[in-house]
Amino acid sequence: MLSIGIDIGGTKIAGGVVDESGVITSALRIATPQTPRGIEKAVAAMICELPGETAIPPVGLAAAGFMNRERTIVRFAPNIAWRDEPLRDRIAELAGVDIVLENDADAAGWAEYRFGAGRGRGSVAMITLGTGVGGAIIMDGELSRGGMGIGGELGHVRLIPNGLPCGCGQSGCLEQYASGHALRRVAGEIAEAEASGIGAALAARRGADGEISGATIADLVRADDPGALEALRRVAVPLGEACGSFAAILDPEIFVIGGGVSLLGERLLGPVREAFRSALPAASHRTLAEFAVAELTNDAGVIGVADLARRAYIRDGE
Ligand SMILES: [Zn+2]
Repeated sequence: MLSIGIDIGGTKIAGGVVDESGVITSALRIATPQTPRGIEKAVAAMICELPGETAIPPVGLAAAGFMNRERTIVRFAPNIAWRDEPLRDRIAELAGVDIVLENDADAAGWAEYRFGAGRGRGSVAMITLGTGVGGAIIMDGELSRGGMGIGGELGHVRLIPNGLPCGCGQSGCLEQYASGHALRRVAGEIAEAEASGIGAALAARRGADGEISGATIADLVRADDPGALEALRRVAVPLGEACGSFAAILDPEIFVIGGGVSLLGERLLGPVREAFRSALPAASHRTLAEFAVAELTNDAGVIGVADLARRAYIRDGE
C-alpha cells in the first residue's frame, strides 16, 4: 500500500508518495509560506496533487514543533509561527482526508529504524544535528513519544550548568554545544584565538561579515585542516558525553546521527565514540552501542511519517 508523507520545515515543505519498502515514487518540494494559513493551503494542495489520478492514500504530516499528547495540535514551533495551532484538523478539513501528525525528528528516527541505518535493530536512538539538535527514541520496536507527547527531546538535556541560553527557554542544552550552529560558533572562536596557529585556514576563509559557513568548515575538515578538525572535535565530545548519559537511561543498540554535520562521517563519529566510552557508566563491563551516520538524509521525515500513517491506517482498519 502506498502512503503520502509531507515534512513541513522552517524553509521548505517536502512531500512524497512512499511505497512499503520506504522508496519515494513521486515527490514535490516548495518553499514554506510565511503564514500558518498559507502553509495549510499549500499542504492541502500538495496532498491532492501528489497521488495523481489514483485515490488519496493514508497521509502523514511531519512538523518541526512540540505536539500535544493526542498529536492534533502544534503547541509551539521554534521556526514557524505556530502557537497552539490545530494543524491536523485544519489540514484534514481542507484536503478532505484523515491525517496522522508527528514531530519531524520522531518521523526521521522512525525512517532510520525501519529503512535506514537502524534497520534490523529493536532499540534505536537518533540524534539529528541541524541548526538545532533533534531527538527520537525507538524502544522495542515502538516510537517513544512520552506520556505527554513531547518526549525524546535529546537536544534539550542540560549539559553545562549555567551554560549558553537556548531557544527552548533553558540554558546549557546539548543543542548549544553540538549543533551545526555550535560548530560554526566554535570554528569562529578558533579562528579568533588561534589565527596564527591551527586556526589560520579558518581565519583566512572567514567572510567579510566574520562568519564561517558550514560548507567552508566541511571543506576544511575533509582536507584535514587542524583548526577545522579541532572545531569538529569540540562539538563531537559533548555529543559523545551526552550519549553516555542517554545510554544509562535508554541503552539503545545503536545511535544514528543525522543532519548536516553527520555528513562528515567518521571524522565526526571517531571522537564521538571516544567521548561516549569515557562518559559511559560501567563502560568496560557492557556491550557498547554502535554509532552510525543516518542513511536517508533529507528524505527521512517524508519516508518516516508516510510509514507511520500507513501503519495507523492498517491498525485502525483492523
Ligand atoms: Zn534547550
